[in-house]
Amino acid sequence: MTAETFEFQVEASRLLRMMVHSIYSNKDVFLRELVSNASDALDKLRIEALRDDSLGADVSDLHIEIETDKDARTLTVRDNGIGMSREEVVGLIGTIAKSGTAEFVRKLEEAQKAGEAGNPASAEALIGQFGVGFYSAFMVADEVTLLTRRAGEESGTRWTSTGEGTYTIETVDDAPQGTSVILKLKPEDTDDRLFDYTAPWKIREIVKRYSDFITWPIRLVEAGAEEGAKSEDGDGGSGDGGKPEPEAINSRKALWARPRGEVSDEEYHELYRHISHDWTDPLETIRVQAEGTFEYQALLFLPARPPQGVLSQDRRGVQLYVKRVLIMEECEELVPTYLRFVKGVVDAQDLSLNISREILQQDRHIQLMRRRLAKKVLSTLKEMRTARPEKYADFWREFGAVVKEGLINDPDNRDAILAASSFASTHDAERTTTLQEYVERMKEGQEHIYYLTGPSRSAVESSPHMEAFRDKGLEVLVLTDPVDEVWVDAVPDFQGKKLLSIAKGEAELGNEEEKERAREERERQREEYAGLLEWMTERLGDEVKEVRLSSRLTVSPACVVSDSDDMTPGLRSMLRAMGQ
Ligand code: ADP
Ligand code: MG
Repeated sequence: MTAETFEFQVEASRLLRMMVHSIYSNKDVFLRELVSNASDALDKLRIEALRDDSLGADVSDLHIEIETDKDARTLTVRDNGIGMSREEVVGLIGTIAKSGTAEFVRKLEEAQKAGEAGNPASAEALIGQFGVGFYSAFMVADEVTLLTRRAGEESGTRWTSTGEGTYTIETVDDAPQGTSVILKLKPEDTDDRLFDYTAPWKIREIVKRYSDFITWPIRLVEAGAEEGAKSEDGDGGSGDGGKPEPEAINSRKALWARPRGEVSDEEYHELYRHISHDWTDPLETIRVQAEGTFEYQALLFLPARPPQGVLSQDRRGVQLYVKRVLIMEECEELVPTYLRFVKGVVDAQDLSLNISREILQQDRHIQLMRRRLAKKVLSTLKEMRTARPEKYADFWREFGAVVKEGLINDPDNRDAILAASSFASTHDAERTTTLQEYVERMKEGQEHIYYLTGPSRSAVESSPHMEAFRDKGLEVLVLTDPVDEVWVDAVPDFQGKKLLSIAKGEAELGNEEEKERAREERERQREEYAGLLEWMTERLGDEVKEVRLSSRLTVSPACVVSDSDDMTPGLRSMLRAMGQ
């Protein structure tokens, strides 16, 4: 077959150019990315084989192999996983279809420009933080070849590129199933002992550092190290020639099964990176060990921010393992939707390997597990708020609106959600408050928890409804997320204190005596202004239900209010936006 030449999509090409010319000092991460892809491919094959026994793929010895060749100056990362079809190679490797890439590339270019002006660290730091995936191979190689065959397909594909604008593709008949990535290493790296990726000690060190937890065996092979030590094709081979397979260089110990004291934060973060494809460290690592009739272990992470950038589109949540074997990559059944940002691993002892989603949804144990995990996440949030307030504040800014959805659809956990939640308030413009703290600050005689919803803090604060409350020194919660319009109705009270919108009905202020005086005053005014009110009601006609005097305003001449059970303006516009 003849090779065809293609051009990289523009963004891919720009990103690649930066990889090729990278002087990033921590190039070692390329191996982490290739091993991570190989591991994903093995997971996928394993899962596909569980679902479909007609796939005809050999899953008896799934593994990753890293081969170093000093003479040829190549490094090969091989897996016998799912592989890629020709279309997949073009789609996945030749383009970056993921949203956010353009922005990342722009940031990177900006940083590089800034770098020329004096801060070379910034662009490099960006690359390091970003999981740039497969393309990171071009940091260390001046030519990359990918040979792959998808499980169940007859022929394979060879893809080659120097990373400069174009790549070639050809169909090959004799590719082993799975994927090999062959790197022709840059000469300058091999000359430098520190970057000699043909040195076995170097590979061992990198694998240990970044990929130790990978559950598949990672084997190291040295080409020509021993006369005939390894047969030429070495791939997919379960002991061909009777030679024992080389030992895995990763310990393969599941982090969630190891005692917490034994695992470093770094190791946890590497696992998080691998699962989530998020290059930013998680804010919090949560462990759950459940013993008893239904045994499971969970390792959950709270991300620092919503998915974005190059790797944003696929939502990767909680993976389900059964006795160390990954059986579902994205198991939504394990956490409620209002905790959908949680990433991690759940490893259960007593589930069937080929359990279906339908069964999962109904399984009583899964439901119990989900409730327990939700509680644990919520109690962690609550604890974070006092113990690590800055982290909590970062978290809440990004994910608070999502968590509050739980107030609507998880009534069982309402108290725990409220305890984990915090709200902007007129009490302190810098800090959020909990309802508990609000209640503790309530004035003598104050019966309700007051709030006002609106599109922004400034809109809420400048609302005429606020005036009287400000004058009386009464605290008002400032609720500006769309979801706030809804949950306030779902939550009748907190510790017996009703949540009351100051935009609805007659907001009662002050103690009994003051209220009595206000009533008398209003009565007197009503008589005095009866004529004016009648005239206004007539003039405004259908625009309003009623015109009445208010004791709430101190500066503004008039304001529009809703009846107690009417919708707030914000909710009305939200429902309108939803087409109601
Ligand atoms: P990511 O892993 O975050 O998706 P990468 O750039 O690392 O991004 O890889 C892009 C895609 O190429 C992967 O999602 C996967 O579909 C495919 N891919 C890469 N390496 C392999 C491999 N060894 N086997 C099968 N598919 C692979
Ligand atoms: Mg990857």
